[in-house]
Amino acid sequence: MHVVYKAADPLEAAIVRDLLREAGLSAECLDEMAWGAQGELPANLFPRVAVRWQQEVARARELIRDYEHSPRQSDWRCRSCGETVDGSMGLCWKCGAQPPGEGSA
Ligand SMILES: [Zn+2]
Repeated sequence: MHVVYKAADPLEAAIVRDLLREAGLSAECLDEMAWGAQGELPANLFPRVAVRWQQEVARARELIRDYEHSPRQSDWRCRSCGETVDGSMGLCWKCGAQPPGEGSA
């Protein structure tokens, strides 16, 4: 396995993994089990996304770079209540707040 991305949390790792899989890459999340088993999350443990084949690494990094530099169309985290909201929703389903970076006009 070749690690191509270190995510901030398991949710982000899953988003990146799905992104790579949609592009036809053999992406996997590492450390998923470790996170699920922990009561408290150690600060130095980040879930990683890996691809199986060396020849997929360049393509994966390209996709991740696009992901990091494009507006979030996938799930977003509510700044108000911290809830994770589906990217297709314009407002937080829990508290009604707007997504980060939108609605400031
Ligand atoms: Zn909210």
